[in-house]
Amino acid sequence: MKLYNTASRRLETFKPINPAEVKIYTCGPTVYSMPHIGNFAAYVYWDLLIRVLRADGYGVKRVLNLTDVGHLSSDSDDGEDKLEKGARATGRTVWEVAEYFAGKFLEDYAKLELIQPEVIARATDYIAEDEALVELLREKGYTYETSDGVYFDTSKFTRYADFADLKLDQLRAGARVNFSSEKRNLADFAVWKFIRPGEKHDMRWEYLDRPGYPGWHLECSSIIHAELGETIDIHTGGVDHVPVHHTDEIAQSEAAFGVKLSNYWLHCKHLTVNGEKISKSLGNGYTLTDLAERGFSPFDFKMWVLQGHYQSERDFSLESLQGAKNRRLAWRNQIALAYQRTGDDGKETVDEILATLNDNLNSPAAFAIIDQVKGMSVEFWRQVDDLFGLGLMVDALQPNAEVMDLLNQREMARIAKDFARADQLRDQIFARGFRVLDTASGWVWQYVA
Ligand SMILES: [Zn+2]
Repeated sequence: MKLYNTASRRLETFKPINPAEVKIYTCGPTVYSMPHIGNFAAYVYWDLLIRVLRADGYGVKRVLNLTDVGHLSSDSDDGEDKLEKGARATGRTVWEVAEYFAGKFLEDYAKLELIQPEVIARATDYIAEDEALVELLREKGYTYETSDGVYFDTSKFTRYADFADLKLDQLRAGARVNFSSEKRNLADFAVWKFIRPGEKHDMRWEYLDRPGYPGWHLECSSIIHAELGETIDIHTGGVDHVPVHHTDEIAQSEAAFGVKLSNYWLHCKHLTVNGEKISKSLGNGYTLTDLAERGFSPFDFKMWVLQGHYQSERDFSLESLQGAKNRRLAWRNQIALAYQRTGDDGKETVDEILATLNDNLNSPAAFAIIDQVKGMSVEFWRQVDDLFGLGLMVDALQPNAEVMDLLNQREMARIAKDFARADQLRDQIFARGFRVLDTASGWVWQYVA
């Protein structure tokens, strides 16, 4: 398998540390608002990664975190805490907000039939690990204290700029916004924040003799170390994580534990909706429920996501989603045929599809291969469905006895040249979700939607 590794900025052949247990960590959502399609596209791409690894014969252990501890709105250590903001907006406590939206996220995750991670780690369950990590960094001299927290001194971690190819000199010259005079270097970040007297922050833990809470980047380092051990195989995230969040994760983990954090780093690009960034004010962050109300299943959305490559910019629109839905229906009607005619096992085609996916998860090219297939067996489609998780077989319910009876009656009416009756029956069949097609080798049923 070849994967594009952000760390080396090139395609590399994947070599796991232990093929029986490939260790993967995925940065999860901050659970403070309703999860939308922009959040889920990433998890669809990483779901494909897991499916391809499994098809290649690897065992996988994956950890996904849920950021249920408040962290700040912006990557700099200022601004308003997202969870506190969510709590105020809804009149709930921060704990309730986190619980509610974590539930919503997991519900939609299940609706998309994404493979469940082996561990779903809630940040608030790892506060002791966070404190231990800060202790280790303090002992090793990587931190300093300011009036508002414990900061990581990026100048002490000499390869800090390497991962994202940061130009720290330019950063220093260019950015003066939010620069705390107590910070030694502009890129320094809080590993622990203190809550000032009178400051409203419901999530708080006593550490260093005062109330505080972990810095945002810290939880990923703590969870990885607790659940997966030292060096992991693959770390995934969004491309916006590269310059700050993942750069900071690497700095604090590698400084504390003295080993490489991850051998491979995969980043997906984000999607826009009708050419615009998803934002609250535009109200363009469709949820799966919004799509369902417009007649689209979670699988139609998944199909849409996988039509593009994880490293390419994607623009979502309901029209393009309709295109994905139509394509999925065409595949399902190939499966309908497979139920009614003996088909090819398509072993070579399955191999070709898998080889294409092994080339840096090239799902659009794999889809182009599938579009071309004709007369494949049910078994072929089952393998395709295992690779992509598009719910093709789940939906591919065959006509029940009632529909079969209508189909047979229509055929008899047609033979008897009672075309009015045959048309009437055709309508009844259609109302039950099926269409009848007369072909050179006899009639076949197809799906309507
Ligand atoms: Zn993370």
